[in-house]
Amino acid sequence: MEIKIIKPKVFIESRFNSEQILKNLERYGRVCYKSENKITSDSAREFLAKILKSGHESVIEHEKITVRIICDRGVTHEIVRHRIGSYSQESTRYCNYKSRGIKVIKPFFFTDKKKYKIWLKAIRSCAIAYNKLIELGATPQEARSVLPNSLKTEIIVTYNLREWKYFFKLRCSRKAHPQMREIAISLLQKFKNRIPVIFDDFIITEDKSLSYPFYIK
Ligand SMILES: Cc1cc2nc3c(=O)[nH]c(=O)nc-3n(C[C@H](O)[C@H](O)[C@H](O)COP(=O)(O)OP(=O)(O)OC[C@H]3O[C@@H](n4cnc5c(N)ncnc54)[C@H](O)[C@@H]3O)c2cc1C
Repeated sequence: MEIKIIKPKVFIESRFNSEQILKNLERYGRVCYKSENKITSDSAREFLAKILKSGHESVIEHEKITVRIICDRGVTHEIVRHRIGSYSQESTRYCNYKSRGIKVIKPFFFTDKKKYKIWLKAIRSCAIAYNKLIELGATPQEARSVLPNSLKTEIIVTYNLREWKYFFKLRCSRKAHPQMREIAISLLQKFKNRIPVIFDDFIITEDKSLSYPFYIK
């Protein structure tokens, strides 16, 4: 029986032009001050930086971004606690992992061989139990009772930009679970690369004493 052990991954699904996002947000935000006459070809960045600094964050709720996250079920259980968003997640009720094969996410912190072996043994026994239950006629939604937290899952997440900022603030913090930080920091880096200004206040910082050595202040 083959178990695939994979690494987590994140992708930005939305197709967007970041300059257009900034221009839209400026157009919406300037309604508050009736200062639309001040819009120029390059006024959006400064305007948005100013309103974010002042805490007038509701303006950035008008634009949303959708991402795809491949991680374990433990991490998605935390992600879906964020209520100002929309989710579509691979279902353990409908997917039959006996026919498609069981995939799990490697917990990067088990670098010690003994710990890794214990984890792998537990995963194998879950997979054996799952397959036996299916062979005995259990449905996937019944057999899932024995699937581990490390099971690979895929989730589509849509948040508006304000909720993304809030998500990164909580989930890139050194207090967040290391596997959550692993995916949140990687997403934040992609957001910072693609969208100017909005995420500039988040500085990704290295701390080698952490099992996942990056966090935001
Ligand atoms: C380090 C860490 C440890 C955690 N530990 C635990 C734990 O041990 N057990 C546990 O159960 N959870 C835990 N959580 C989850 C946490 O309690 C929240 O459920 C999760 O972070 C989502 O945050 P939120 O509810 O603030 O945000 P969202 O649901 O994203 O909402 C955003 C904001 O909208 C507002 N809002 C949303 N819904 C309401 C509402 N109904 N009423 C009023 N205001 C609302 C709030 O201001 C909220 O901050 C932990 C989270 C972190 C980051």
